[in-house]
Amino acid sequence: MNTPSAVGLLHLIAAEPTLLPAAPHGAAGPDLTQRVGDGHLCLGCGKPAEAAVIVNSPIAGPRWLDLCSKCWFSVRRANDTPEQPA
Ligand SMILES: [Zn+2]
Repeated sequence: MNTPSAVGLLHLIAAEPTLLPAAPHGAAGPDLTQRVGDGHLCLGCGKPAEAAVIVNSPIAGPRWLDLCSKCWFSVRRANDTPEQPA
């Protein structure tokens, strides 16, 4: 996943947070490790996820975002990149 598609993914999640499975409130390190151990697939590319992230949606509450390390890197980059005006 490249940065533009990661930006697209973040926009999609912001618009449709219910696409992601609901996460428990107050999930911490052990919950994230457990989530990865459950063997979910990367939302970006469909490979086995190696990272679990909580996305706190203002409308839908905490949601799981499962990513492989490569897509997680892209998503972090996309999140850090200021949006360019269209
Ligand atoms: Zn991936």
